[in-house]
Amino acid sequence: MNRDFDLVIVGGGMVGASLAVALAPLALRIALVEAFAPDSNSQPSYDERCTAISHGSQVILDTVGVWAAIAPDASPIFSIHVSDQGRPGIARINASEQGVPALGYVVPNRSVGKALWNKLGGQANLDCFMPAKVISMTSDESGVDLGLEQDDGSPVALRSRLVVAVDGARSLTRKLAGIEAEVLDYEQTAIIFNVTPEEANLGRAFERFTVNGPLAMLPLGEQRCSVVWTVKRELAQSILALDEPLFLARLQEQFGYRLGRLLQTGERSSYPLYRVKAMQQTGHRLLMLGNAAHSLHPVAGQGFNLSLRDVAALAEVMATLDGADPGDPAVLARYLEWRQADQDKVLEFTDGLVRLFSNPFAPLRLARSAALLSFDLTPGVKRLFARHTMGRAGRLPRLARGVPLV
Ligand SMILES: Cc1cc2nc3c(=O)[nH]c(=O)nc-3n(C[C@H](O)[C@H](O)[C@H](O)COP(=O)(O)OP(=O)(O)OC[C@H]3O[C@@H](n4cnc5c(N)ncnc54)[C@H](O)[C@@H]3O)c2cc1C
Repeated sequence: MNRDFDLVIVGGGMVGASLAVALAPLALRIALVEAFAPDSNSQPSYDERCTAISHGSQVILDTVGVWAAIAPDASPIFSIHVSDQGRPGIARINASEQGVPALGYVVPNRSVGKALWNKLGGQANLDCFMPAKVISMTSDESGVDLGLEQDDGSPVALRSRLVVAVDGARSLTRKLAGIEAEVLDYEQTAIIFNVTPEEANLGRAFERFTVNGPLAMLPLGEQRCSVVWTVKRELAQSILALDEPLFLARLQEQFGYRLGRLLQTGERSSYPLYRVKAMQQTGHRLLMLGNAAHSLHPVAGQGFNLSLRDVAALAEVMATLDGADPGDPAVLARYLEWRQADQDKVLEFTDGLVRLFSNPFAPLRLARSAALLSFDLTPGVKRLFARHTMGRAGRLPRLARGVPLV
């Protein structure tokens, strides 16, 4: 097996595997190192969660050739309905108003993982080291040396001109490079589960802001919804421990009756919420992507979508190297310059939403209602907002425009 690469991707989760798929058609020798088999129960990226992907992300996944495998499990979002518990303001965005077949799709993470890893099988220029963990990293002027530990404990040494760290919010690669991360504890926990309401969802997604945190109800098939219920950290354990009738009653009280009575919920899991931001996204022959670079609050469902745009831009930079060294600081700077504005905007927007809607201060709540109402009545503002959340704003990479790289 090859041990010398142009580019090594550390982490084959949702973002790392997407990058490997996007880069595979290029004339680069690539390695992907992942700690867990994609179908392992311990795999942290392809777990029981569903992800709301934007129209733009769907285009990227389609252009790199994995959407056809995901589509049978994807539920389209035809409209988004935003409300503030106990206040009159409501904002609605419809796919037909925006001229797209769907604003986005809800996809089970496991389906995304399966489609990505199936696509990676048999790529001649790609070597997968899995299950294997990166445990050491040193570098010199011309390359980076990575030490891997395979599942059976045996070591492997790789050398690469560029390392892309996509190993999650607690990235060991980031630590090994001596790059600090800024961590903000939201003191909130996301409780995740599926629910069956009385009424069919008709492709409607709901985002409801409550005093404890936002509640997202996303269409999953015709009859079920995937729920991200954000609560104050100190309430999470007691809510998770409620029996089914009490849990349903509490949920109904928070969500209301827009889908009729809530009848049944599935298994619950929970995620403490932090914002993690690498102080630098590049180092010597190193680039950080996905949660290793920026991990967001799930309130607006932007984490994976933002990272997929990063992936598409990086793949395009790599496709236009013209013989340049992929680890050259000028190459990495070209990527960062392109992506910085979108990243800053999404981070600011996500943080702003969390702060604005968790504030119980009465005048602010009134202003929020007014803002939701005026948003609903102002088509220009709505179109601009929709373009951003659908991943259609700014300089779009070729993959996001449906143009393959080769
Ligand atoms: C509750 C919740 C709901 C969300 N909903 C949405 C949504 O609706 N829409 C959206 O766009 N985003 C959403 N997100 C964000 C999205 O889940 C993340 O953006 C995405 O999972 C990030 O993927 P990643 O590959 O960067 O990191 P991870 O998923 O953390 O994957 C990291 C990978 O690296 C591997 N790894 C770690 N260390 C090593 C090592 N040393 N060596 C080798 N491999 C290693 C791990 O095994 C793992 O596979 C949500 C997040 C949460 C928490």
